[in-house]
Order: sequence, then C-alpha cells, then structure tokens
Amino acid sequence: MDQKTEKSNLIEGATGEWEVVIGMEVHAQVTSNAKLFSGASTEFGGEPNSHVSLVDAAMPGMLPVINEGCIAKAIRTGLGLKAQINLSSVFDRKNYFYPDLPQGYQISQYKNPIVGEGEVIVDLLGGERVVVGIERLHLEQDAGKSLHDQHPQYSFVDLNRSGVALMEIVSKPDLRSSDQAKAYVSKLRTIMRYLGTCDGNMEQGSLRADINVSVRRPGDPFGTRCEIKNVNSIRFIGQAIEHEARRQIDILEEGGTIVQETRLFDAKTGETRSMRSKEEAHDYRYFPDPDLLPLELTQGFVDGLAQNLPELPDAKRARFIADYGLSPYDADVLIIERESADYFEAVAKDRDAKQAANWVINELFGRLNKEGRDIVDSPVTADQLGSILDLIKAGTISGKIAKDVFDIVWTEGGDPKAIVEGRGLTQVTDMGAIEKAVDEVIAANPDKAEQAKTKPALAGWFVGQVMKVTGGKASPQAVNTLLKQKLGIE
Ligand code: ADP
Ligand code: MG
Repeated sequence: MDQKTEKSNLIEGATGEWEVVIGMEVHAQVTSNAKLFSGASTEFGGEPNSHVSLVDAAMPGMLPVINEGCIAKAIRTGLGLKAQINLSSVFDRKNYFYPDLPQGYQISQYKNPIVGEGEVIVDLLGGERVVVGIERLHLEQDAGKSLHDQHPQYSFVDLNRSGVALMEIVSKPDLRSSDQAKAYVSKLRTIMRYLGTCDGNMEQGSLRADINVSVRRPGDPFGTRCEIKNVNSIRFIGQAIEHEARRQIDILEEGGTIVQETRLFDAKTGETRSMRSKEEAHDYRYFPDPDLLPLELTQGFVDGLAQNLPELPDAKRARFIADYGLSPYDADVLIIERESADYFEAVAKDRDAKQAANWVINELFGRLNKEGRDIVDSPVTADQLGSILDLIKAGTISGKIAKDVFDIVWTEGGDPKAIVEGRGLTQVTDMGAIEKAVDEVIAANPDKAEQAKTKPALAGWFVGQVMKVTGGKASPQAVNTLLKQKLGIE
C-alpha cells in the first residue's frame, strides 16, 4: 500500500524535499494476571524477584505451560486489527545471552505467528486519514531487568517481568510523518483498551515501540532504515522520528550514506544515538521450541471470540457521526476512551447531542485534564451533567449560570436542581425585574445610550452591564429585547 504523501508531510532539506518512511514494532503487554508460560503474577511494582516461578528463573527441567487466556487475548487483538488469524502457529526459541534472560533464549514466534496481515485506520485530529497495514502479531516472553545503579561494584537482576506475555505488533512501512506515527500508536492503544487486551500504560512499560525510520526523495524506492529501540511515550515517539529523519537527511545531503543500525532515543537531549550496527546484529538461531507443541486452534474457538467483541472504535465513531450528527473531530475525541464514549452517550440520551458533546469535551475533559484526573473518577457524573443540561433547556438557568452550577457540583457534589433552587440561581425571566435593571443601567449611562442609537455594537456592552446588575441571572433573550426597545435600536 503506497498512499500519496500529503505535501504538508514532506520535510524541507537544503537541497529539496524529503519524505520520511516509518514502520513500527509495538510491544504490548497482554492484560493477564499470570505470565505466558507460568502461573507467576504479572503485578507491576512488586519487590524485585517476588513474582518469579521456577519456570521464569529457568531452573533445569522446568517445562513451560501455555496460558490460554493470553492466547485468547492475542486472537481478540488480531480480530480488532481486522487481521488473519492463523489456526496453526509455532513457538520458537530466539537464542541470545543476556544476564536478564536466564533461559539463554526468549520464547517467541518467528515464521508462523498467531496473527497475520491486518489493518488499522488512523484518523488524525486535523482530518487526515491513513490506513496502516499490519504485517503480523506474534506472542513472546518479556525479559527481566538488569539494575546497574544499586551497588558500586555489582549489577543486580530483577526477574519480575521475565516471562510476562507480550504481543509484538509489526506494521508495514506505511507511515509518513511523526504525527501519523503518534496517532497510529494512540489508535492501537485505543483498540486494545476497548478489547481489554492491553492496558496501554506506557509509564509502566505495558506499551513500547521500536521505530524504523528511513528517508527518500518523494517517488524514490525506500531508503536504508535505522531502528530506534524501546520508546515509551507518544511524545518521545514524535521527537525521536523528527530527530532521526533530520539526521538522515543531513547525512544524505552532505553526500553520505545511511548505515543500517539500531539506535537509542535519549529523552534528555531529544536525540538518537547509535547502539549497535547491523554487523553486530545477532544471529538468533531460531528453532521450534521442543518443549511446546505447535499451537493448533479450532475455527470454533476463534468464532466464539469474534462473537464476543465489543463495539470497536471505528464502528463507534461512525455511529456517533451518523446517529448523533457529531463532527468527525468531536467523534474522534469522544471515542479515544471507551469510558468517555459511554459517558457522552449517557448524557446525550434524549437530549441535544451536539450540546452534550460540547459540554463533555470542553467543560468536563477540560477540567479533568487540568486536574490530571481520569473520566472514571470524574466528580461530576453523567446524570448530574444531564440534569444541568435539562435546567438550561427548561430555561431555568442560563448557559453562564450552568457553568457555575457545574463548578459547584464538581467541588461540592449534589443535585444540580436542588443547588439551583437552594441558592437562588434561577434565571430571572420576570420582565418587571429585568426592565428595572435595564432602566437603571441606561439612566446611569446617558452618553453611551445616546451613542448606541448610531453604534448598535454598544448594545453588547449594555447587555454585559445588565447581567452584572442582575448577578448573571437575567434571561439574555429578555435583556436583549428590552435593551433594543429602550435604546431605540432596530
Ligand atoms: P526485520 O526482519 O529486520 O525486523 P522487517 O521486515 O520485519 O525487518 O521490518 C521491521 C519493521 O521495519 C517493520 O515495521 C517494517 O514496516 C519496517 N521497515 C521495513 N523497511 C523499512 C524502511 N525502508 N523504512 C522504514 N521502515 C521500514
Ligand atoms: Mg522484525
């Protein structure tokens, strides 16, 4: 699939334009209480080496036993990526020595992965859409962790992660900008969170990406790529690609060539640096693990999982646009988290959906972001926000007062209707009272009242003054009508 790159994605060099080509290998930790081949806990943050079975520590004679729950989640993920599910797949040994890998090999899948080709639709918030091909998804074990900063002479090893199930999701080289790459990883995370197959927690290392980057002149064949290992935040993914593309362009423009190599991203400097060249690349001597039989699935097992998929993000997005009349932008923002989408639907039910979307996106998300809170522990529930919108619709409060009520519910809790009644926040629709306020303001500002006859824009200033006098409670329509009459504006 070679989609035409939008001009805005091209990078300006000293000698003309360049196109960046990106393919990603994303490692996603399977949501599971137990490891891929042992019953040890996968809990994050335990005391070092407190979640290690004899299998994870590679004691002689221990045999791996496959975790069926992890298999089911890999298949679910494959289905969510609209991918081929392979009824027959094989676990191989990928041999290498590393102190945090006590077996001396990692159990992975090489030639016969559990999931084959699929695709992910990526909608960027600016309206751009890319379809990213998935090459494969395979299951593998995570390694342990070497600790070099605990003792002046010794290195330590923590095997808590050793044997934890990972899904490696390999994309085709279909991405053409750092923004596309960031949006792609976000979309993968959204899909897996909907499916409950990976929690997507990048700070805890549940989701990390190896990024393959090359550059070329538009229309040329692919250039030589470099691979940036283990990037663990969406923002860093963007920075690493920007830096790496620029580095390669500078080399090529000075007449040099790109050496295929593995690089590391340094978050402190925002730069990538060489880790090992292709000549130092491992020969992993893959071979089928003799301790594990080939994995044979029945079509019935896969069909059963397919029938139990939730509504996926693309379907939800399309439904939000078609059924609620939302803009693609609003739909994209609301579907990022399943919980946000559910919240929105609870508010929008039997109400003005566009207004509900505005309140959820602007007031609610705005406040949640500001306070670094999650939608699942939002102080204002969907029911409470719904009541606020009902009070606006009934004309009981203005949109401005509604924001105050939202704020009160946020900080103090309570029923919006009771708050409005109890604190006298009800909108003044009594024409007599509003007229009195209008008269007062006009009488206090005779010069401006005179000017308003020829400068109707001044009416806005008068509306503001009347609102001030009435504590923001006057019905804005009534104030407008009365002011126009009294000032003699058409
Ligand atoms: P390897 O077997 O060496 O890991 P793969 O063919 O599996 O290589 O590709 C690994 C990743 O690199 C894939 O995500 C793929 O899309 C990406 N990739 C391959 N060629 C290029 C290229 N020229 N530029 C950028 N990414 C590439
Ligand atoms: Mg690879």
